[in-house]
Amino acid sequence: MEKKLQELKTRLIEIDDLNSAAALLSWDQSTYMPPGGAEARGRQMATLGKLAQEKLVDPAIGKLLDDLRSFEDSLPYDSDDASLIRVSRRTFEQAVNIPPSFVADFTNHNALSYQAWTEARPANDFNKVRPLLEKTLDYSRQKAEYFPGYSHIADPLINFADYGMKASDVSAIFKQLRDQLVPIVKAITSQQPTDDSCLRQFYPQQQQLDFGLRVIKKYGYDFNRGRQDLTHHPFMTKFSLGDIRITTRVREDDLGDALFSTMHESGHAMYEMGINQAYEGTPLAGGTSSGVHESQSRLWENIVGRSRGFWEHFYPQLQAEFPTQLGNVSLDTFYRAINTVKRSLIRTDADEVTYNLHVMIRFDLEMQLLDGSLSIRDLPEAWHERYENDLGVTAPSDQDGVLQDVHWYAFTIGGVFQGYTLGNILSGLYYQSALKAHPEITDEINHGQFDTLHNWLRTNIYQHGSKYTTAELTERVTGGPLRIEPYIQYLKTKYGELYKLD
Ligand code: ZN
Repeated sequence: MEKKLQELKTRLIEIDDLNSAAALLSWDQSTYMPPGGAEARGRQMATLGKLAQEKLVDPAIGKLLDDLRSFEDSLPYDSDDASLIRVSRRTFEQAVNIPPSFVADFTNHNALSYQAWTEARPANDFNKVRPLLEKTLDYSRQKAEYFPGYSHIADPLINFADYGMKASDVSAIFKQLRDQLVPIVKAITSQQPTDDSCLRQFYPQQQQLDFGLRVIKKYGYDFNRGRQDLTHHPFMTKFSLGDIRITTRVREDDLGDALFSTMHESGHAMYEMGINQAYEGTPLAGGTSSGVHESQSRLWENIVGRSRGFWEHFYPQLQAEFPTQLGNVSLDTFYRAINTVKRSLIRTDADEVTYNLHVMIRFDLEMQLLDGSLSIRDLPEAWHERYENDLGVTAPSDQDGVLQDVHWYAFTIGGVFQGYTLGNILSGLYYQSALKAHPEITDEINHGQFDTLHNWLRTNIYQHGSKYTTAELTERVTGGPLRIEPYIQYLKTKYGELYKLD
C-alpha cells in the first residue's frame, strides 16, 4: 500500500509540475509579455493544460485510487494519507468527465479572449469581445453538461470552486444577506456623502508600492517565497509552496487602489504560504474553496486593514510618507474616507457594505446566461438595468459596465463570483472565532502586531490546505455551519458607529 501511495504521489506531483509551468506562463502573460506573444502563449498554455489533463485522467490513477480505498478506510478521516487519497479521488472524478481536447480548446480560447478584453475595455468596445464571450458561454455550458444530474446548470461550475454548494444554496444565503444589507445601505446613503477627497490626490507610484510592501511584511507575507509585480487586474498565483506571488495595479490619483489590493492579495498568499509543506505538489496544497480563500483576503484587507486600530498605528507612518498630501488630514477624516459607503459603479472600488450587492448582480446575471433566459447580446443592457435597480447608479459606458471585470473574459461564466461574498461572510465568522480564542488580537492590531492572529489562522485554517471541505473546516473552526450573523454584526457595529445609525 505504501508503494501504491508513493506512486500516486509521484504521478500527482508530475501533474502539478505541468500546472505550475502553465501558471508561470499565465503570470508572465498578465505581467511582462509583449502583446505579440499572445497567440503562441495561448497555444503553449493549452498544450500544458492538455498534458496535465491527460495525466490526471489516466486510468492508472483511477486504478491506484481504487486499490487504495481499503487502506484509506483503515486510516483516520483527517490523517494526511487518507485526506490525500480522498481529495485526489474527488479531483480525479471531476476531471475524468472532461475530455482533454475540451480543456485544450477552452484554455486556448480563454487566452485569446483575455487578450481581446485587455484591448476592448480601454476602447469601450463590447462588440470586439462579444463573439468571444458567446463562445465562452457555450464552453461554460458544455463544461457543466459533463456533470449531468444537476438542478441548475450552474451547480457543477459552483461545485468546482466551492465544493459542496449548489446554486440554490448560494441564492438562499444571498437572499438573507441582501435583506440585511439593503436597509443599511439605505440608511447610510440617505446621509450627507462622506468627503474622501484626501485619497484622490497625486500619490507617486513607487511610494505607494513601498508603503504597501511595508504593511504586508508586518502581516507576515514572506518575501523569501514571494514577490509583487504590476498587472491590469490584481491576483495571487502559486508555482510551489516556495514561490507564491502577488500582483497589483497603481493609480497615482487614488491612494486606496494599490494599498488595499496589496493587502487583499497578501491574504490569499499567506493562506497558501501557511499550508503544511509536506503537501507540496499534491492536491492538498491549495486552499479549500474559493469562499474560504476569499475569506482570508477580505480578512486582511478589510477587517484588519480598514480598521480604526490598524490605522492608529500606521497612519502616522503614512502621513510621514506623504506629508504634503496627508499632513493636515486627521486620522478621523482618513478613517472615514477609506470606509466611505456609497452607491458606485465598480465592484473592486466598492466599500464593504455595498460590495456584496455588486457580486449578487453578477451572480444573478450568470445564472440567467447559463439557463438561457438572458443572451450575451442583451447582457450590457441587463447589466445597466440591474445597476440602476440595485445600486441606483448608471454607468456612462460598457467600460465601467459589463467590461469592468476580467472573470467572464478569462475563465468560465458561472462558478466564480459567489466566492467573493461567501468569503466576506466567512471572514466575519472566522474572525469572531479568532477573537474568542485570543481577545488580545484587537490590542495587538492597534500596535501594528499581527502574530497572534496570523498564527491562529495558520493553525486553524492555513496548515490544512484543502484537507477539509468548507463545511467541515467551518464546523471545526467555529463550532457550527456557515451563517451570516457574525458578518452582519461586524458591519452593523463598524458602520453603525461611523454613520451614527441606530
Ligand atoms: Zn480575492
